[in-house]
Amino acid sequence: MSRAVGKKTDSNIRQNVGDHRVKIPPLTVSFSDEVADPSQAVVSFKFGNGQRKNVRFSSNGTPLRRSGDALFCLGLLPAVELGAELIVKSAVDPQLLANAEKIQKLICSWNPNSRPVAIQADTESRSYPSGRCRGVFYSGGIDSSYSLATEIDRLEKIVTIIGANSSRPDSPSSERLRQTAIGVSQRFGLDPIIIETDIRDVSDRLIGWVEYHGALLSAVRHLLSDEIEEQLIAASGDENSYLRPWGSHPLLDPLFGTSGAKILHHGLVARAAKFERLLDAPVLLQHLQVCDRSEAGSCGRCDKCTFVLFALDVFQVRDVPSVFAGHRPDRRRINISGPSSESDWLSLRDAALQRNRRADLVEAIEKAASKHQINWAWKHALHIYTLHKAYKQFKRRRRYLADSRGPEGQTGP
Ligand SMILES: [Zn+2]
Repeated sequence: MSRAVGKKTDSNIRQNVGDHRVKIPPLTVSFSDEVADPSQAVVSFKFGNGQRKNVRFSSNGTPLRRSGDALFCLGLLPAVELGAELIVKSAVDPQLLANAEKIQKLICSWNPNSRPVAIQADTESRSYPSGRCRGVFYSGGIDSSYSLATEIDRLEKIVTIIGANSSRPDSPSSERLRQTAIGVSQRFGLDPIIIETDIRDVSDRLIGWVEYHGALLSAVRHLLSDEIEEQLIAASGDENSYLRPWGSHPLLDPLFGTSGAKILHHGLVARAAKFERLLDAPVLLQHLQVCDRSEAGSCGRCDKCTFVLFALDVFQVRDVPSVFAGHRPDRRRINISGPSSESDWLSLRDAALQRNRRADLVEAIEKAASKHQINWAWKHALHIYTLHKAYKQFKRRRRYLADSRGPEGQTGP
């Protein structure tokens, strides 16, 4: 059965790109038939009548289900970002396709420059093997470590994605994450699934990682749907997350799941409370990996490292994880960049107050929060965030148009 979601009108297939109203060619996602190994899958992104970019997914042995549900998750948000019709070349679960309207409505409510797009996809009801289990995405950070620690008795699989952050799969930090996932799995008697991908080589041209990362997790979740019935995505904030546009969101993540392949956005808990929970799970605390800047494991200077260094101090952790042992917390590096980080730091301030610890830290956090609130108010009044987002979206659409041209300059399929 063929089904299209969204009304295909001039208003949603023609978007403003600069001063011109131009037709945005469709984005087509499909699986390549070239790979016979069941632990590998290659997804093709075709830009209009032009370029085709392949993205590789491979597991450490677990067969990957070449499901149109994964293609749907991979393609929908880039299509909305670009204003392009989405064509999915494998059948999609009817429930998931029906969720497209809610997903697009949410995304477009966050970005005034986006409009719902039309979708072409066949639908097919799903059946899954019996005896599937529950899993959690684990990246070594505070959030996923907390979800793992609190749900350990009801989990069987740890799913770790290599290549989702900015590091290359063969980099030292990727190898450390790989070994951490395997080591933690062994300590808790869980089965590690390691997924490697080069998705960023393609996705970064189409959409920002902040907007896209939850959809990528959801796609991997569907690739693993023959193994996992319910998959946990760790919340990256507390209850304030409902108010924040973010690629992994308590309202968005479940919509990328289905009744047969569920997604649970887990742990809307203050960051300091999550960290405190890890004091009872020293294996996870010792394996914390939060830094995106250092191949050595911790730069000691970025926002994430600074938070952990102060949290170690506030909670008086004696056995400091080795990657943080050479660094000292520096108040001058406390940077509150948005409502989520404000919530994180205020939770650490409250923890310090409760323990009568670090009056200097409490003062520094409150000073940073005041500065942030003033900056935030000004940037909103001047529409800085909206203008910045519109500029990046304009550049992506212009690049996509150039990549979509066929041999004779045609942009249609
Ligand atoms: Zn760092």
